Amino acid sequence: MKSDKHEKRRKKRTATIVTHAGREPFEHFGFINPPIYRGSTVLFPTVADLEGLRQPYTYGTKGTPTTRALEKAWSEIAGADDAVIVPSGLAAIALALLTATKAGAHLLVTDSAYGPTRFFCDGLLARFGVTTQYYDPGIGAGVSALIRPETTAILLESPGSQSMEVQDVPAIATAAREKGVCVILDNTWATPLFFPPHERGADLAIEAGTKYLSGHADLLLGLVSANARWAKRLRHTFNLFAIGAGPDDASLALRGLRTMALRLREQERAALAIAQWLAARPEVARVLHPALPDHPGHHIWKRDYLGSSGVFSIILKPAPKEAAEAFVDGLELFGIGYSWGGYESLVLPFDCAPYRTATKWLPEGPALRFSIGLEDVADLKEDLEAGFERLRRKS
Ligand SMILES: *Cc1c(COP(=O)(O)O)cnc(C)c1O
Repeated sequence: MKSDKHEKRRKKRTATIVTHAGREPFEHFGFINPPIYRGSTVLFPTVADLEGLRQPYTYGTKGTPTTRALEKAWSEIAGADDAVIVPSGLAAIALALLTATKAGAHLLVTDSAYGPTRFFCDGLLARFGVTTQYYDPGIGAGVSALIRPETTAILLESPGSQSMEVQDVPAIATAAREKGVCVILDNTWATPLFFPPHERGADLAIEAGTKYLSGHADLLLGLVSANARWAKRLRHTFNLFAIGAGPDDASLALRGLRTMALRLREQERAALAIAQWLAARPEVARVLHPALPDHPGHHIWKRDYLGSSGVFSIILKPAPKEAAEAFVDGLELFGIGYSWGGYESLVLPFDCAPYRTATKWLPEGPALRFSIGLEDVADLKEDLEAGFERLRRKS
C-alpha cells in the first residue's frame, strides 16, 4: 500500500482491508504503524498559514495523525464517507443522537436498545425538549406509521442488547428514508465485518470499539461512521463538542484492528459450538442466538448478516434464584461482568423487564448472556457442565 490511488485499484476483501486500512508507513519513515502523536498545540509556520488553516492538523481536539489513521481505517471498513472516534461506545451513541436531533424533535428508539441509550434519551435529551418513543424491535416496515412530521431519527440496535432480537434494518431504513428521517444503527455486535451498516441503509453507524475492536478488555472507545448525507453534519457536531478520543487509545485500537477479523471468526465458531451444545441441554429452555435456525430472527440474520460474533443469551428452565446463582458463581473460566468482546469468556445474568415499555420481557426462567472468548471450547463446555451439576443440586 503506497498511496490512496494504489489502494483503490482493486476492491479488497475484508481480512485484507483490516490489515492495511489507515496505514501510511512512508509518512512515518517507513514504520508500519502510525506513531502516537500526543499534542494540543500545532504550530503554523506563518500568520498566513494560521489564518488560512492551511495544514491538515490545526489543534489537538480536531485530531492527530494517530486518531486520523483510525478514523480513515474505520471509514473504509464500514463503507462510510467519514468516521469519528470518541472515548466510549456510549459517547458514540450520544454524539450520533445529538447529530440527528434538535429541540422539539421526536425520536424512535428500539425497545431492545442498550440500557444506557434509554437513560441518555430519557435523562438528557428530554431536558432539551426531545421526545423519545420506544418501538417493538420486530416492527420492520411498520415503523412508517410511527413517524411524525417532527421525527428526526430512528435508532436501531440489532441484535438487541441481551434479548437478541434481530431487526429488519433495510425495511426500517427504507421507511425512514422516504420521510427524510436519519437512520442510526448501533452495530456493536456484528461490527462492519459481519454487517456493512451503510450498505444496508444506516445513515449513522455506532460501534462500541470497547468490545471487538479492542478485543483485549483494556480499552474504552466509540466510533461513529456516516454516509455521504450525514458525514458533514457528524464532523461538525463532533468538532463543536471537542470529544475526540486520545492518541494512545487510538493506537491500541489500531493494534486490535489488525487481528479483529481473525478473532471474530474464531469467536463466532466457538460461540456457535457452545450455543448448539447448550440448546441440547435439558436445563436450558431457549438459546437466543441469531445463527440458530429456531431463533425468531434467523431468516433476517441469514439474509443480511455475514457472520454471527461471539455474544448470545440463554433462558434457563424455571429454577430457584440460588440454583442459577450457584451455576454462575462456580464457573472457573467465565468471568461475571459487564462489557464483552475481549479474549476472555464472560457471563452476565440479566433482566430486561424493569425498563421495557413497548414490549414485554417474559422469560420462562433465569436469563444469562454469554460472551465467548478465545479459550478452548472443550474446556468451556466442561466448566458449564460442572455448572449444570451445581444447578441441579440446588433445584
Ligand atoms: C457496550 C455497548 C455500548 C457502550 O460501549 P461503552 O464503550 O461501554 O460505553 C454501546 N452499545 C452496545 C450494544 C454495547 O454492547
